[in-house]
Amino acid sequence: MATNQDAFEEARRYIAGGVNSPVRAFKAVGDCPIFFASGYGSKVTDIEGREYIDYVGSWGPHILGHAHEKIITAITRAAKASTSFGAPTVAETTLAKLICEELPGVERLRLCSSGTEACMSAIRLARGATRRRLIVKFAGCYHGHADSMLVGAGSGALTFGSPDSAGVTRATAEETLVLPYNDVDALERAFAAYGPDIAGTIVEPVAGNMGVVLPVRGFLESVAAITRENGAIFIMDEVMTGFRVAWGGAQRLFGITPDISVFGKIIGGGLPLAAFGGRADLMAQLAPEGPVYQAGTLSGNPVAVASGLAALTHLRATPDIYTRLEILSARLAVGLTEGAQRANVPMYLARCGSMLTVFFQNGPVRNLDDAKKSDVKRFAKFHAAMRKRGHYLPPSQYEAWFVSNAHSFADIDKTVDAAREAFAECA
Ligand SMILES: *Cc1c(COP(=O)(O)O)cnc(C)c1O
Repeated sequence: MATNQDAFEEARRYIAGGVNSPVRAFKAVGDCPIFFASGYGSKVTDIEGREYIDYVGSWGPHILGHAHEKIITAITRAAKASTSFGAPTVAETTLAKLICEELPGVERLRLCSSGTEACMSAIRLARGATRRRLIVKFAGCYHGHADSMLVGAGSGALTFGSPDSAGVTRATAEETLVLPYNDVDALERAFAAYGPDIAGTIVEPVAGNMGVVLPVRGFLESVAAITRENGAIFIMDEVMTGFRVAWGGAQRLFGITPDISVFGKIIGGGLPLAAFGGRADLMAQLAPEGPVYQAGTLSGNPVAVASGLAALTHLRATPDIYTRLEILSARLAVGLTEGAQRANVPMYLARCGSMLTVFFQNGPVRNLDDAKKSDVKRFAKFHAAMRKRGHYLPPSQYEAWFVSNAHSFADIDKTVDAAREAFAECA
């Protein structure tokens, strides 16, 4: 039987770095990646036959757990009627209608295949609609790997970004202004200096890609207000939070309506599907109606749409799921906090519904600079100690853990017990 180590060595001979997305390589925890064989409900099994309770959930999509019966049935039925036409199907409209009917800010939307594509397209739309060139983002927020978003805070007093990846040109990076999350003053200064050139502001309403960081009271309202006062477009990236932190996402939870919303992850039910949508007049700027080009051979793919539709339909019909997720996640959070305290390990837990991060530091964590004060070596030890005990956590300090509705109270309690030992082990 092949081990994870064997599989990784073989993979590295044919796949760049052995993985198709960098975090999967477990470099941040100095461990060997896990190669999975199967998943069902809250559990995943690797090729060595080891079972884990899963808190990654494919990085967010699996709010209903792995291989949910309704999703599998829908996918199977769709696949039998052809996996792709590259032409319209009625189910795409059904999915779009479901989302539009739930969210007042989404009058029209467009489907695509990844969160990266959806964010990239939303930004192009903001620039095209305003005929302005600059985009504001917040450090630590992830909006996919399009060039204009792989940009970090520049050095010095200016807010112009600098490339966060080789291959991103300085010219591109300088068209993105990068500000600290939760910093309204910085946003006001940026608009005061460059307002007439700013096309839009993009934000994760609850950040999940520097670990979970909650918006401070009034932050999102200020982002919306300042952006709009300056004639720019307010883009809420709900790829992670959408239908996760609440039915209807963070915009429903906080009662804030963006000009453009971006979705992914949960809306695809585990298949590659994402969407961006907003006011009808803005969305009319997209080709074929308008001048902003956006396209995709597999956009609105029937199998992915069937999967997403099954997931959202089930969530809509079962609103109790969000209550249950809150109870499970709160129980996990309390248990983890007690475990860390008992072991005298400095720990700050941030949580919004069923997404949470255990920061190995005293906190509070309000932005990327705060998050970076975490003890990542201790996180790596904790991660290994949890893996050994059959718990699959995101292999980086700066990722969100996800609880699914397939998790049982017994799962949570097992994880809390294991964490108590793991905290002691890395104290
Ligand atoms: C995951 C994520 C993306 C990128 O989505 P992909 O499907 O991985 O391209 C964008 N924004 C946020 C907030 C995300 O969490």
